[in-house]
Amino acid sequence: MAGHRPEPDRDSREWWERIARHEFAVQRCAGCGVDRFPARAFCPACRGEEWRWRAVEPEGRVESWIVARQPFVPGVAVPYVVVMVRLSAVPDGLAYGNWRGGREPRAGERVRGVYREEGDVTLVDWEPAG
Ligand SMILES: [Zn+2]
Repeated sequence: MAGHRPEPDRDSREWWERIARHEFAVQRCAGCGVDRFPARAFCPACRGEEWRWRAVEPEGRVESWIVARQPFVPGVAVPYVVVMVRLSAVPDGLAYGNWRGGREPRAGERVRGVYREEGDVTLVDWEPAG
């Protein structure tokens, strides 16, 4: 499968820990209640720094995708497809992941996230919601 490998940072580390437990979480601002994704330290709406995690279904719609034809990552077969998904839970939230459709995705089609263990990391792939 494809070779997108995450680099957890200060803001996303706990998100990746939750993904490892197969929990897809977004942040909800304690100040204004706006949900956000991906994880960041403060609210883009009110600049508030207090928030909590909220588990949501990993669902959305295909916003865009790329077909990778160059073998950037050793050992990864090409071509592979990386999709950009607009999350149902957070309309401004865009998630990226490998496509598992067996065909190219369609713009706007409904998809769901599926967890995949790759070595010591858990990734979220996307497939048609069927
Ligand atoms: Zn806020």
